[in-house]
Amino acid sequence: MTAFDKIVDLFMFRAQSDENLSEMPKITQGSIVWGLILRASVIIILSMIVIGFYKLYNYWWLAFFLLWLLAVYPAYRQFQIFNNRIKKIEEATLCGTCKYFEPTGQLCKLFDEHVSTNYIPCEGENWEPKSFED
Ligand code: SF4
Repeated sequence: MTAFDKIVDLFMFRAQSDENLSEMPKITQGSIVWGLILRASVIIILSMIVIGFYKLYNYWWLAFFLLWLLAVYPAYRQFQIFNNRIKKIEEATLCGTCKYFEPTGQLCKLFDEHVSTNYIPCEGENWEPKSFED
């Protein structure tokens, strides 16, 4: 996957199924925030150009509406999908109960690798319960 493809994925908020937990994560909190920033930037810049060019100063509120409709709401929906997926990963894998699991990136902090139902980086050898976390 090229850098351009990644940017397009972020911009398009490409959804990932929260059913297939064996896939490596495409959606993380970081990707959602980046997607939101990209979309908001494009909408704000285009709105400023259109409002300035056509002198639509009385319709500035439309820009806020577009911002909500095309950036904030899709990001919120993406965040809900992400949260569902993380909940299912936590229930379905050993990593979900481990203190090294980082849910925001679906990541093992110890190995710095993504986990899935098919892949547990330490194969259980370094598991430590969350309750002993300081
Ligand atoms: S240490 Fe092992 S069990 Fe814990 S999160 Fe990492 S891979 Fe999963």
